[in-house]
Amino acid sequence: MTKNYTKDDSDVRLAEREWMVQKQLIGRDITDRAVINSMLTVPRHVYVKEDKQDYAYYDTALEIEESQTISQPYIVALMAQALNLKASDNVLEVGTGSGYSAAILSRIAANVYTIERHEELAHLAKERFRNQGYENIEVRVGDGTLGWAEKAPFEAILVTAGGPIIPEPLTDQLAIGGRLVIPVGDKGEQKLIRVKKTATSDLIEENLGLVRFVPLIGTEGWSETNPRHLQ
Ligand code: SAH
Repeated sequence: MTKNYTKDDSDVRLAEREWMVQKQLIGRDITDRAVINSMLTVPRHVYVKEDKQDYAYYDTALEIEESQTISQPYIVALMAQALNLKASDNVLEVGTGSGYSAAILSRIAANVYTIERHEELAHLAKERFRNQGYENIEVRVGDGTLGWAEKAPFEAILVTAGGPIIPEPLTDQLAIGGRLVIPVGDKGEQKLIRVKKTATSDLIEENLGLVRFVPLIGTEGWSETNPRHLQ
């Protein structure tokens, strides 16, 4: 196997990452070569706090700043695979968090536009992308449930927080032939839904399984004061 070194990397981290990909992704149902290569290349330990770096390649989500989470590696791979990305795709992500999943998408697609509601997280993610030399990711602070109209249409949209409904602005901003992956359900548990847009008003929904994400908070999500209720 060729060495997939990146900045801030070491033989130890590379070995951990190869083990993660082998056991947690290929050992399950991840077969998309572009996703596998991206997961081998992007240093996940760079996206967590220093005291969590030794756990970065474990089969688990981890806590990040602002009481949010970096998703489990397998879930990131599963969502990226479900998006069916092409190298020319324009991608929107809602919920930048640590920046890890945006980094994964950015090694596969042409452009990634990612929105985060916490300024501090957006700032940290931007810094990480700059340090890694990733130039095709744009980060914005705001309410991602409204999408990013200036950059639409998107061939793929990934929402990495769980909402009560599929936000209409997101399906509106999806290109014909585009795919949207989003956890939908209550606060405790959600269905991972894939929406395919086959024509302007034709949406096909599939259930990819049960997942647990932090709440999607915004105009088309849960309300900030009580995340169990709609705005
Ligand atoms: N993709 C991230 C996962 C972060 S957890 C990663 O790889 O680390 C989900 C993130 O969604 C949190 O950081 C949370 O603050 C953010 N979020 C929740 N509601 C949002 C909204 N309406 N717009 C933008 N970001 C939102």
